[in-house]
Amino acid sequence: MSKGRVDTYIGIGSNLGDAADNVQRAILLLGTLDDTRLIAQSNLFRTAPVDGGGDDYVNAVAKLETGMPADLLLNALQAIEQDFGRERPFPNAPRTLDLDVLLYAQQRIDTPSLTVPHPRLTQRAFALIPLLQLDPLLAIPGKGPAHQFVPGVAGQAIQKI
Ligand code: AMP
Repeated sequence: MSKGRVDTYIGIGSNLGDAADNVQRAILLLGTLDDTRLIAQSNLFRTAPVDGGGDDYVNAVAKLETGMPADLLLNALQAIEQDFGRERPFPNAPRTLDLDVLLYAQQRIDTPSLTVPHPRLTQRAFALIPLLQLDPLLAIPGKGPAHQFVPGVAGQAIQKI
């Protein structure tokens, strides 16, 4: 890792429009953020919506190396979401693009706008499975090895595209 940079994992999801294309374009955009490099991306996965209705989601996880502080990274992710025309008419509404900071180094962050590790990471196959594909030995700060949570999401439909 370059000096002053940390590894961060970004969860990407879309279930509106050409969802696979939205996810793939978003991943490439992540690699163009200031002081940031795309290290790896998972496969794209098709998943059933967990809380909301609508079409299936396409999900993936990207591993970045970044010198951006976590709050600025979140702002940058939200700007990309806006570029993709995301509207939020109601909670869990279908979305053109959703970007989540899953992990930021091994830091635990709890501010009004940002909770890291992402609070639902261990409960959602669409985040956990692509994350483990990138890094099977990953530890979640405060929770231990990520793979121990796989049995808990085994009932959630997820399929590699
Ligand atoms: P969502 O509708 O799921 O995209 O949630 C967006 C909101 O979650 C924003 O207001 C963020 O400030 C907040 N948030 C808290 N923690 C995170 C995180 N780790 N990644 C992305 N958004 C987060």
